[in-house]
Amino acid sequence: MMFDFDDVETTQDKQLPHTLAWAARSPFYRRRLGTALPADREQLLDTPLTTKQDLRDSYPFGMLAVEPGRLATYHESSGTAGTPTASYYTESDWDDLAERFARKWIGIDATDMLLVRTPYALMITGHLAHAAARRHGATVVPGDNRTTAVPYARVVRLLHDLGVTLTWSLPTETLLWAAAARLAGHRPGRDFPALRALFVGGEPLGRARRARIGQIWAVPVVEEYGSTETGSLAGECPHGRLHLWADRAIFEVYDPRTGRVGPEGRGQLVVTPLFRQAMPLLRYNLEDDVEISTAPCGCGWRLPTVEVYGRSRTGFQVRGATVTQAALEELVFGLPARHEVLFWRAKAEPDRLRVEIEVPAEHGEAARGALRQAIRAGLGVDADIHAGPPGTLVPVELLTRNPDTLKPRSLFGPDEDWDSALVYSR
Ligand SMILES: [Zn+2]
Repeated sequence: MMFDFDDVETTQDKQLPHTLAWAARSPFYRRRLGTALPADREQLLDTPLTTKQDLRDSYPFGMLAVEPGRLATYHESSGTAGTPTASYYTESDWDDLAERFARKWIGIDATDMLLVRTPYALMITGHLAHAAARRHGATVVPGDNRTTAVPYARVVRLLHDLGVTLTWSLPTETLLWAAAARLAGHRPGRDFPALRALFVGGEPLGRARRARIGQIWAVPVVEEYGSTETGSLAGECPHGRLHLWADRAIFEVYDPRTGRVGPEGRGQLVVTPLFRQAMPLLRYNLEDDVEISTAPCGCGWRLPTVEVYGRSRTGFQVRGATVTQAALEELVFGLPARHEVLFWRAKAEPDRLRVEIEVPAEHGEAARGALRQAIRAGLGVDADIHAGPPGTLVPVELLTRNPDTLKPRSLFGPDEDWDSALVYSR
C-alpha cells in the first residue's frame, strides 16, 4: 500500500471547513469558545488545547454534536483516577475509523482470517479491527483478551486449527501465545503455516522485543498506534516506522515545559481528527509522550513519522543512574534467543535494581550473567537478578487450562457437584 500525498496540508485544508462546522455544533466547544469558534486553520491553531480532563468533565454526552439517533457506538476508556472518558461515533465516523485501521503495509483481504485479541468491552480496539476486517471481506474470529471464555490454550487451538492468517493484539499477547503454543506441543515458527503477520499495538514496543516476536513466529510484526478517543492515528510502513495519518487528522506536539505547540519535535501528541462528526475534537492533547519528525522516510510515504514513548521512558533513579522500562526491555530481549527469556519484571529502588526473569534451568546461569553484564554496560547499575524456571512469572496453569464457561444453573443430579457449578460470582 502506498501513501503518496502531494501535499497533506492541501488535503487537510479541503476538509477543515467541515470539521470546524461540526465542532461548532458541539455543546462543549460552543460553551468554551462561543463567538471565538475557529473558522480556519490559523484560528484553529490559536484555540486552546482540549484536555483529557475536558473529556471527563463532559461525561457522558457533553461533546455530542449530532442527533443522538445518529450514534452507532459508545465507548469508554478509564482514566487513571477511574473517571470514565466517553467517546462515540456515527456510522460515517466508522467508515473513517475502519479505513484507517486497515492501512497497513500488509493488507487485509477476503482470504484472511483475523483473530481479534483486544478488548471488545467498552473500548474501541476490538471493534476497530473487527470492522476493518469485515469491510475487507475477511473472516473475523472474535477472541477478546479480557474474557474468561477464551483462555490462552483456546487461542493456540484457534490459531492452529483454523489457519488464522492475521492477529490483532498487544505485543505481550504474542509472547504468551508462544509460551502456550510450546506447552501444547507446537513450535510457533513452524506449526502455524497460515499465519502471515501479527498486528500489534496498545503498548510501547522496543526494537529488540519486536525482533524477537518476529523471530519466534517467523512472520512480520506490524505495529499501529491509536486510542479509544481517536481510533488509529499512525501505522507502520515497510521500513518499520510509524507514520501519522496526516490526511485524516492534524497533528501537533505540545511541550509542557515551554508551553509551545509545533508541528514536530518531542512532547505530548495533540490531534484534531478531521472526519469526526459525533464527537469533534479540536487540538485534543492525548498526553502521550511522542516525537514527531517530518524528515522523509525511505518508504516514500509523504507523511510525518512518530516515535511513541508512552510512560516507558519515565525513569526511576537507582544509585544515580536512570532506569526506564524501555531500556531494560531492550537489554532483556537483547539476550541470545537460545536463552528463551520471554517474561521479566523489575523493581527500581534508590539503592538497588531487582530483576526477575523466567528462563529454562539449563540457561539460567548464562542468562543471568549475560543480563547482569548488559545492564551494567547499558545502564551503569549492578542489578540483583533472579532467574526462575518457566511458570515463575506467568503461571503454567494460565497458559494450559481450558475451563468450561458455565451458564447459571440451579438444579443438579444426584452425582453432580453443585458447589463447583454455581458460578454467579466467577
Ligand atoms: Zn516510512
